[in-house]
Amino acid sequence: MDPKVSKADAALDKMRAEKRLKSVEDRRVASEVFDKLTLETLYKLANNGYLNILNGAISTGKEANVFKGIHDKGHIVAVKIYRINTSDFKKMQYYIQGDPRFKVRTNNKRQLVNAWVNKEFRNLNRCLEADINVPEPVIAKNNVLLMEFIGDEDGNPAPTLRNQPPEKPEKCFETLINAMKKMYHDAKLVHGDLSGYNILNHNEEPVIIDVSQSVVTDHPISRELLERDIDNIIRDFKKFGVFATHDEIKQKIIEK
Ligand code: ADP
Ligand code: MN
Repeated sequence: MDPKVSKADAALDKMRAEKRLKSVEDRRVASEVFDKLTLETLYKLANNGYLNILNGAISTGKEANVFKGIHDKGHIVAVKIYRINTSDFKKMQYYIQGDPRFKVRTNNKRQLVNAWVNKEFRNLNRCLEADINVPEPVIAKNNVLLMEFIGDEDGNPAPTLRNQPPEKPEKCFETLINAMKKMYHDAKLVHGDLSGYNILNHNEEPVIIDVSQSVVTDHPISRELLERDIDNIIRDFKKFGVFATHDEIKQKIIEK
């Protein structure tokens, strides 16, 4: 046989095999996200008028998938679905235990995830009330959170600060430190996972997301988390050419 042909055949075979594998993987992920109870939750949200169509995946994270949902024509919502099986229960339990708002004393994974989603919903509301730029939450039901879609009118989600550095880094940094300050003093929360990955660049305005692990300031680990958030933000903004020291930023956030 012509060696060139056999090489092409082999490449084609490999492609086909990869495609098959990918579709198996897609199906595995799909069945992990859309288990029976999650589907029921989505149907309920649809029946209650919160959601019409789920289309387009925005992100597949460690614990949750984010999709674009169509509410009405031209009205998009972000749909964050926590996968029960891949959630980090130990972490959830630990964070929830020290939070006086929650009295969940359970080892039941589903109940824990539901409490976790409820926590993200409530944290978003607390941030909004403190005038911090976050997506407006719509509803939390079981392991599903619906919130305002941050993006453009064509349905393109806003990039993260990591993917799209700010055009005016100094200004963006100042806005963020201000948001951290408001979060600390007014919302009385510490984000706990703040970095360029959890900040969206929405037309050059930073929007803070992913507040599920955010803790109240009197949680025993809030100080430790604040220190880490400060380090992450300083590290990321250093890449954008903004230089600041940990103590200077901490001082700014903590002082009234
Ligand atoms: P994870 O726990 O997987 O990190 P996030 O809440 O950070 O979950 O969301 C993952 C990704 O989904 C984000 O980096 C962002 O790209 C996208 N995303 C999340 N929420 C929204 C939203 N409200 N609008 C648009 N995109 C969003
Ligand atoms: Mn995230």
